[in-house]
Amino acid sequence: MFNLILFGPPGSGKGTQSEKLIARYGLKHLSTGDLLRSEINRQTVLGQAAKKIMDKGQLVPDEVVIGMISSALDDNPHAKGFLFDGFPRTSAQAEALDALLQVKKAAIGVMLALHVSEEELVKRLLIRGETSGRSDDTNEQVIRARIVEYQDKTAAVADHYRKYDKVVMVEGEGTINQIFDALCIEIDKRIF
Ligand code: ADP
Repeated sequence: MFNLILFGPPGSGKGTQSEKLIARYGLKHLSTGDLLRSEINRQTVLGQAAKKIMDKGQLVPDEVVIGMISSALDDNPHAKGFLFDGFPRTSAQAEALDALLQVKKAAIGVMLALHVSEEELVKRLLIRGETSGRSDDTNEQVIRARIVEYQDKTAAVADHYRKYDKVVMVEGEGTINQIFDALCIEIDKRIF
């Protein structure tokens, strides 16, 4: 089993690259953002509570996203491996993920961290907001709040995996294919 975390701030290209990576490597894509938006679309109690938090650019409580990931792991017992996108976003989520994988005698193979400048992030998210239908992408204040949440709570998740020498920084500015190639080089070094 090969498990990968695609890491980086909002707008760094995790969703775009995840689609290409799962196609190449046959991994199961687990995006907490997508799982939460699916709850919102189905108007579940969880989705209604999460929407209020997401629209402010804040993080949904750890126990909610950890529960979603735990169920998703159980729902995919035969996966070749998982690509985690947008999770873990706090140190508590990282510790919970390690524990969930340990039960399955698995671990994180590598964390690939996309590096993109803040101005480029805001620009990309505002452009995405024109077509994505995501209310959290249309307001610059909400976008900046998400970047602050990233710096305050999420950036430290890389330190957690750095302790195990699992973090590789990848340049996140360039063409989609250039970035994809750079990610694949790092995965190919580790997958066999
Ligand atoms: P982006 O990376 O562009 O912010 P996501 O789709 O990953 O987009 O996340 C959208 C929102 O969903 C976040 O701003 C946050 O409110 C919530 N969210 C997603 N994943 C998590 C998580 N692991 N922990 C807490 N909140 C999350």
